[in-house]
Amino acid sequence: MANNDDQFKKVISHAKEYGYVFQSSEIYDGLSAVYDYAQNGAELKKNIRDYWWKAMVQMNDNIVGIDAAIFMHPTTWKASGHVDAFSDPLIDNKDSKKRYRADVLVEDYCAKIEAKIDKEVAKAEKRFGDAFNKQEFISTNPRVLGYQEKIDTILKRLGKSLEAEDLADVKALIEELEIACPLSGSRNWTDVKQFNLMFGTKLGASAETAMDLYLRPETAQGIFVNFLNVQKTGRMKIPFGIAQTGKAFRNEIVARQFIFRMREFEQMEMQFFIKPGTQKEWFDYWKETRLKWHKSLGLGEDNYRFHDHEKLAHYADAATDIEFKFPFGFKELEGIHSRTDFDLKQHEEFSGKKLQYFDHEDNASYTPYVLETSIGLDRMFLAVFSNALMDETLEDGSVRTVLKLPAVLAPVKAAVFPLVKKDGLPEIAKQIIEDLKWDFNVFYDEKDAVGKRYRRQDANGTPFCITVDHETIETNTVTIRHRDTMEQKRVAISELKDIIKKEVDVKEWLMKM
Ligand code: ATP
Repeated sequence: MANNDDQFKKVISHAKEYGYVFQSSEIYDGLSAVYDYAQNGAELKKNIRDYWWKAMVQMNDNIVGIDAAIFMHPTTWKASGHVDAFSDPLIDNKDSKKRYRADVLVEDYCAKIEAKIDKEVAKAEKRFGDAFNKQEFISTNPRVLGYQEKIDTILKRLGKSLEAEDLADVKALIEELEIACPLSGSRNWTDVKQFNLMFGTKLGASAETAMDLYLRPETAQGIFVNFLNVQKTGRMKIPFGIAQTGKAFRNEIVARQFIFRMREFEQMEMQFFIKPGTQKEWFDYWKETRLKWHKSLGLGEDNYRFHDHEKLAHYADAATDIEFKFPFGFKELEGIHSRTDFDLKQHEEFSGKKLQYFDHEDNASYTPYVLETSIGLDRMFLAVFSNALMDETLEDGSVRTVLKLPAVLAPVKAAVFPLVKKDGLPEIAKQIIEDLKWDFNVFYDEKDAVGKRYRRQDANGTPFCITVDHETIETNTVTIRHRDTMEQKRVAISELKDIIKKEVDVKEWLMKM
């Protein structure tokens, strides 16, 4: 099996080769950490967004969706704390001149210790065979316990010093752990400094009157400033949620790992407004609900884990990440944050406007608490795409590359082929396309041998291939081939729509939640 680095390289090149993701402005050698979604990628991204929107907005009577502007009044970002506190600790290596996020250097160090734990587990699993109990091994093996304790101690200290803004201690930790620059191998580090991640721009024509603006670094604030507008016009009763998807911008220090960390990306966020005191209950509810949403897509139960935060952001009283097993290890995919009444109170203070809710049951007004779920659409794309890509060895020894995207998300649902380019077969195939395209994104292909066309669609992630042959003329039947099983069945043309619908319908998938 290919190692993780190779697998990740394959993901990136496959995404380009099959029209999913291109580097931005590639003809000018690209722009660092900015990407374009291509013809298939745009469809996949849209399908993920729709899958989220359906589950979040359409299926919940008490959640509505909005679409706020990217530009916001600059005071928004003072109120939200982003002007003062939206920064990452950075450190430079004096020899390689490379810039790193200090916290990430320490976390990567811990990931290496974690890899040692995984090795111990794998070794023991081999030794004990079927009798192996992983949970018991992890909680009793002295070596594993030692490693785990080391990780816990390091992360605890990192969390503490970041919370206290003690950047000198973050540097001391890096030095004590003898962390070296991966590029130069040297331990010649600068001090740790804070770096604000917001992009600034200007609104207005003349230099004197222009107003300094920021590109929003998160979509959440567009929801907070509209809290009362939506509550009043929608006559919403607490608890209720406001959802939104849209672009966000961050001048990330270290942008790498393809679309995992970008400078322009898209978020899918939902702010749930609740009564103060109920935050623990709703935190647990949304943790569980969001994990179920992820699992409904069938990417593998073992590929998710929660990571509760040691260091809480300035607005949170509890926070957890849903981490996913990317080709480069477990990393944050979605954040769930209990944000208290921090945001609404700040906006009240800075705007001078009341942002309160009148509770008819209690006959009293209060500032609601907020529970937030925030997921990166691009990260979700990467999770789905990297999980789907595989090389399969077939019975005859040949290897096929297949992109086993969840059918509900696949850009193209079915490809239709005439077996040969004559005898009226293309006309029938094109008529099938005309009929199916009202319901599904479909694709016509008549080039090359049919086996080659199947392989192309396998690699493209298309769940069904439909072939029109000479028998079709007589019986109005075609063969339908399934991407994952490669099984072919003869079915009536009139049945096609229902067969495809059953496997790609959002309802069928979301019902698994
Ligand atoms: P990280 O710790 O990875 O920088 P974060 O904790 O700052 O992420 P949040 O502010 O909680 O992220 O944003 C919510 C979600 O937005 C994240 O879970 C992630 O999926 C996505 N996200 C954040 N930053 C980026 C980025 N630079 N590129 C792509 N997606 C991002």
